[in-house]
Amino acid sequence: KVIVKDLKKSFGSNEVLKSINLTVEEGEVVCIIGPSGSGKSTLLRCLNRLEEINGGQVVINGTDISTKDVDLNKARENIGMVFQHFNLFPHLSVKQNITLAPVQLGIMNAKEADAKAIALLKQVGLADKAEAFPKSLSGGQKQRVAIARALAMNPDIMLFDEPTSALDPEMVGDVLGVMQQLAKDGMTMVIVTHEMGFAREVGDRVIFMDGGYIVEEGKPEAIFDAPQETRTQDFLNKVL
Ligand code: ATP
Ligand code: MG
Repeated sequence: KVIVKDLKKSFGSNEVLKSINLTVEEGEVVCIIGPSGSGKSTLLRCLNRLEEINGGQVVINGTDISTKDVDLNKARENIGMVFQHFNLFPHLSVKQNITLAPVQLGIMNAKEADAKAIALLKQVGLADKAEAFPKSLSGGQKQRVAIARALAMNPDIMLFDEPTSALDPEMVGDVLGVMQQLAKDGMTMVIVTHEMGFAREVGDRVIFMDGGYIVEEGKPEAIFDAPQETRTQDFLNKVL
């Protein structure tokens, strides 16, 4: 479960997040939409403290990760993150990319991590790619490896920042399919996306951000079919 209270984040004089209040329940899938520059990525990065925050609180499964004395590595073990660009290690095989963190952090031994990697590759439809290197994979395959790698740590929460926006259109479906299955399996997910169809179908809740605030949130049908705020209406008119 994620609780964000009065979160503020600035870059210099640029107040990007002015006061964000948000709760994500266990097993909930929350999709974040909004214009470019509205702070979606910044919010996601604040959830695992890839950015230092300027005010407010971020509480992940009862641990306030905004405090100075928090064990950040421990907190981050529970939070998987997948970015637009896959950031795989080019010199490691697919399997090694997945086993690296759990083994280095002492969470699994090599044998356990191997078994986990094989199971995860099966889950993302890449059972035959364990020994391949990233450069031989398509964008969609790389992104599915990145998802498997994040899942290898057995996270409670998965954060996705536009995981399909760097992909060729024909690759998008495979990646969204993996995410949809994760959602069905009960993973808690926060997803920044431009895929409005996916947000409508898979999201339990959709959040529209603009100007450093959550302008409107609700069930997908409410946001997409009957948005209440002018800014939400204007945005959806442009993207739908
Ligand atoms: P997009 O849809 O284009 O990805 P976004 O909603 O994810 O946009 P952010 O990347 O969160 O937007 O950026 C919000 C604002 O914060 C922008 O004005 C951006 O220039 C600024 N910003 C983000 N990261 C930094 C940084 N590391 N240093 C300075 N400014 C930053
Ligand atoms: Mg972004």
